[in-house]
Amino acid sequence: MNKLIEKIEEAESIAIFGHLNPDGDCIGSCFGLWNYIKDNYEDKEVNVYLQPIIEKFRFIRGTDSVISIPDDKVYDLGISLDCGDTDRHGDFGSIYKNAKYTICFDHHRSNEGFGDFFYCEPESSSCCEVLFNFLDYDKISKECAEALYLGIVHDTGVFKYEATTEATMTIAGKLLSKGIHSQSIIDETFYKVSYNQNRLTGRVLLDSKLYMDGKVIASCITKEIFDEYETSKDDTDGIIDKMRVTDGVEVAVLAYQKGEDLFKYSLRSVNYIDVSAIAVSFGGGGHIRAAGFDAKGSYEDNFKIILDMIEKQMR
Ligand code: 5GP
Ligand code: MN
Repeated sequence: MNKLIEKIEEAESIAIFGHLNPDGDCIGSCFGLWNYIKDNYEDKEVNVYLQPIIEKFRFIRGTDSVISIPDDKVYDLGISLDCGDTDRHGDFGSIYKNAKYTICFDHHRSNEGFGDFFYCEPESSSCCEVLFNFLDYDKISKECAEALYLGIVHDTGVFKYEATTEATMTIAGKLLSKGIHSQSIIDETFYKVSYNQNRLTGRVLLDSKLYMDGKVIASCITKEIFDEYETSKDDTDGIIDKMRVTDGVEVAVLAYQKGEDLFKYSLRSVNYIDVSAIAVSFGGGGHIRAAGFDAKGSYEDNFKIILDMIEKQMR
């Protein structure tokens, strides 16, 4: 038996945590594990603490039970999934810390390690892939498989990013054999966009500019732009991927405004720039080819610093 299962079997109450702005891999891993525990350990109390889950992910079983308001419950076991540092637990950080035993399962290169038991595989495509290897295949239900498959689909950009390996595809295949509907998971959660999202995407691409002989593409979404298209940060998924595949581009930078003087930055690279290193220097994190951070100050000032760092890496 592995440490994760051993600790789950010992605990009566279990809380699962992911990261702020929960994405497909975060929701997939949290509810993959939630379903696994519900299906195989009926007597245990298990809760997932995450910010409210956006509509397109709510087909995953259990997402209607998510707890989005912090409380002061003390759990036997706290499990952190897909979260690179404890700040990213947001308002739920103290519930995790107060659990009698804590586990961290992750795949972020920038994760420096936390929890009583820490396991991180930076080469893994997704946290769902990491988690899958700790679960008993025969005990994975269709609903658990749907959640894990969702996470792999999203963190690999539908089986396309560099971290997609033979192991990733093998696991995806095993999940398919549980009877899940791959096409609808991919279409409904990854490709489908609203009309307003399309208009926002168009605007961001129109506004984008090239730097360093076309090796860098960047764009910024101000609050005014969000308002103009009746959109929000929840509508930005996928825009940076369109920027990233621009011919000749190595790095894509997309910022959006979170507050008067606060922007969130997303970074993607294609072949050789380590964007995780840049994000870490701003206090954020992520992976070599996909990373992000929040930064105070003007977009123009911070973008200059980012560009400088890219230039240094290129030299
Ligand atoms: P995205 O740009 O899609 O928000 O994030 C890309 C990757 O960077 C994800 O793996 C995400 O977890 C990580 N990331 C994004 N923003 C932050 C941040 O503020 N802090 C840390 N540690 N990681 C981040
Ligand atoms: Mn992930």
